[in-house]
Formats: sequence, C-alpha cells, structure tokens
Amino acid sequence: MSTQIPFDNSYARLPERFFTRQPATPVAAPQLIIFNHALAADLGITPGAEAELAQVFSGNQIAPGAEPLAQAYAGHQFGGFSPQLGDGRALLLGEVVSPQTGQRFDIQLKGSGPTPYSRMGDGRAWLGPVLREYLLCEAMHALGVPTTRALAAVSTGQPILREAGPLPGAILTRVAASHIRVGTFEYFAARRDTDALQALFEYTCARHYPTARDPVMLLDAVIARQADLVAQWHAIGFIHGVMNTDNTTLSGETIDYGPAAFMDGYHPVTVYSSIDRHGRYAYDNQSRVIVWNLAQLASALVPLMPDQDEAVAVFTNQINAMPDRLLAARARRMGAKLGLDMADAGDQGLLDTLLKMMQDHGADFTNTFRALAETGHAPGLNAAAGYGDWEKRWQTRLQALPGAQARMLAANPAFIPRNHRVEQMISAATEGDFAPFHRLLTVLQTPYDTQPDAADLQAPPEPHEVVKATFCGT
Ligand code: AMP
Ligand code: MG
Repeated sequence: MSTQIPFDNSYARLPERFFTRQPATPVAAPQLIIFNHALAADLGITPGAEAELAQVFSGNQIAPGAEPLAQAYAGHQFGGFSPQLGDGRALLLGEVVSPQTGQRFDIQLKGSGPTPYSRMGDGRAWLGPVLREYLLCEAMHALGVPTTRALAAVSTGQPILREAGPLPGAILTRVAASHIRVGTFEYFAARRDTDALQALFEYTCARHYPTARDPVMLLDAVIARQADLVAQWHAIGFIHGVMNTDNTTLSGETIDYGPAAFMDGYHPVTVYSSIDRHGRYAYDNQSRVIVWNLAQLASALVPLMPDQDEAVAVFTNQINAMPDRLLAARARRMGAKLGLDMADAGDQGLLDTLLKMMQDHGADFTNTFRALAETGHAPGLNAAAGYGDWEKRWQTRLQALPGAQARMLAANPAFIPRNHRVEQMISAATEGDFAPFHRLLTVLQTPYDTQPDAADLQAPPEPHEVVKATFCGT
C-alpha cells in the first residue's frame, strides 16, 4: 500500500502573499534513514514501503493532498532586522489533524531545494544538521519540553558543497504545531500590510489560542507559553544557540536546532554556537532574549489595535511584567530539580548557593542534579567550600516536603544528547555508520530512566572529546 497522509490544509487557504507555491526539487537517489512510526500513527499517517517513504519524504513524489509552499517571514537576527527571510530550504507540504487529539500539525520538508527565499543558499541541508535536529527534537520531546518533532530523515544521494568540502545531503521531515514565527508577524508589520496582519492574527488565535479575542490576549498567552518554555530550557541545560525572532514560535514550541546544544559543566555564560561571538544567546541570557523577542511581537501587533497610543502603553506593561513571570517559571522548574516547592524563603538561596558551587567547580549540570536526586549527595562537589553545610540544610528542608525524591527523579534526566556524542554520531553517519544515531535515539527516548548499559552516554566528555563550538545547519 502506498503512503497515505490525510492532508487537511489551512495555511494554503490564506492570502497568496503569505507564501510562494513551490514544488520540491527532486533528488538523485533518496534512501530512508529513519521513519518515526509512533509519531506517524499519532498523526493518522499510513506508511507505505520503505522505498516509497524515501520518495515521499524526499519530495520526489508528491503525496496526494500536499500543496507544497514556502512560507514568507522576516526576523531580527542577532538584533538586526531582516525584512525578508522565509523558507529558503523548507517546504510546508500541508497539515494533518491528529485523529487522537484533534490537534493540527504542519508537515514540512527541510532541505528540499531552493525557493524564492533562498537568497545565496542552495536550499539544501547536509546529513549532520538533519541528524542533529532529528535527535535533539526527539530528545526534547522525551524530556517533556514542547518542541517540533521529526517524522523522517532521508539521504538524498547527492553531495552538497559546504566550506569543509562535499558532504552527504539529507532531508528532514519536521512536524510542528505550526510554523508561525514572531518573524511572520514582523513580515507583514514591516510592509504595513494590516489586512494580512489581521488575517494572521485570526489564523493564529484559531489555531493556538481559541480563547484569545484581541492582540492583548494573544500576547499574554504567548508570553505565558514562552516563559515556561525558556524556563524548561534552563532546567535541562539547553542552549538554543540562535534565538532570532524567526526562530521563536507563536505556538511555544522549540524550533530550529541549528547550533543547539546541552551544557556539560555548569556556567551561566556558556555559548556553543560559532556565530554567537558576543554571547547574545548564552545559557543564562535566554531569559532576557525571549523578552526582547516578544517585545518585537508586541510592536508588530500595534497596528491591529484601535488606539495606537493605548496599545503601546498596554503592550509595554505586558512586556515589562514578563521578566517576573519568567523568574517565577524558572524558580518553579529549577526548584523541582532539588525537590523544593520554593514556598520557603530559604529555597531560592539553596538553589543559588548550589549553582554557585557548581559554577566554581565546573560541575556537570545534568549529573550533579541527577546524583542529588538519586542519592542525596553530589560527589563532584565534595571539595567545594561549604558543600557539606549546604547538603545538611537542603536535607533538613526536604524533610518537610514528602515525595521530594520522586519529583526530583522526574525533573532530572540521566540522559541528555551530549555534544560530544552528537558530534561522534554525525562523524560515524557521514562514514555510513548509523548505529550510534539509532543507539542515542533509543537511549534518549527514556531519559529519566536508569539505563546501566548506557553509562558511556551519561558520562561527561573526556578532555579530548570536549566540543567547544557548534555550527548552524547551513
Ligand atoms: P536558520 O538560521 O536555519 O533559521 O535560517 C535562517 C534563514 O536562512 C532562513 O530564511 C532559512 O530558510 C535560510 N537558509 C538557511 N540555510 C539555507 C540554505 N542552505 N539554502 C537556502 N536558505 C537557507
Ligand atoms: Mg530558522
């Protein structure tokens, strides 16, 4: 039987200036690397044979009901505004509605060939970033963090040219609650196209926030979701790496894993992305950047308000209140890692003191918290001045909080996609060995479980394995 995707497209019904209709550019010899059968089942997709899946999820064969299009958007990149970005190497095939949940999802090919938005790019992706995104987004999902998902990865059989030389080409099929970005609103606001902005506003509310009746309510809802999202990033040591407004979703899902990475040793200014020279998107700064990004969303929404001056005043208040909402979300998420409910005046101090000791000693972020959850001790901090005293105070506080250990084990993963393992996996796959990819993916599907056979994936990198920089997926 052939692959069946029950498309039910709505974005393609929006005004034509929202996108460019564009077929995928066929590739030479597509081969299926992986297909996410569980996700397909959730989405009501019936997979055909492997060879056919490779044809469909490379764009060589157009699935019945698909209406491929490249979405238009703008965005602030590292603070500077680009009025015209758009899908330069991606195509929205259409949407499906999950038969289980009734929720609507985009099905998008990434790396499917040039579009009118490609500028100087080739519209393609190489295998490394495709596998990185596949692994990281599926790991994030298993960690409980809102994220886009991966449905398939296909190798194209076509080398693509990058600085390093020719690299194997690949295409990712991404599933997202939507691909509406802060930059989508900015695109129409910059063009003073208020009609399109109004249509986008209505579409976004209908799809994500059905109870929002005006831009103030929409902004409030997005602030709530993004504040909690970034708090969750902090709680698992995740560094997105390129938090431009075109990579900030209205749905509140994590999107675009170009240089994304997880921190090994704890330090608040950790940066991996090679292009983030000034640490704009450093671990700790993500809380400030998301506020800035949503201020750009607020600006773009102003033309939709009946009274512009009043709009500016109201939006300013909402944005100014966001840091406190983020702090609260972050305290809740970080507190849970220590079993604390943050109700006691000393809870924040317990958390801050621990983090300071971890920073001074370069303690592994994931393993320190996991050890505290499993055993009540952090052996890596025994040498830290004041650690013994801290541990006693913490243990005493925990006595007043029944069920703390279970909560801690559910908040502190044993496994994260460590950078050095991801890089090793990419090197192996580039040589044709996909075993490390499959193994990592399997282990990361249950990141909160103890998995004695995977101790090597839990360990921080040896000095020679440390990855200092990650690179965008281009
Ligand atoms: P990103 O940094 O991946 O979020 O991409 C930023 C912008 O560059 C988006 O408009 C992408 O579509 C575009 N882009 C990235 N890589 C390529 C490529 N290889 N070819 C064409 N456009 C690209
Ligand atoms: Mg992007």
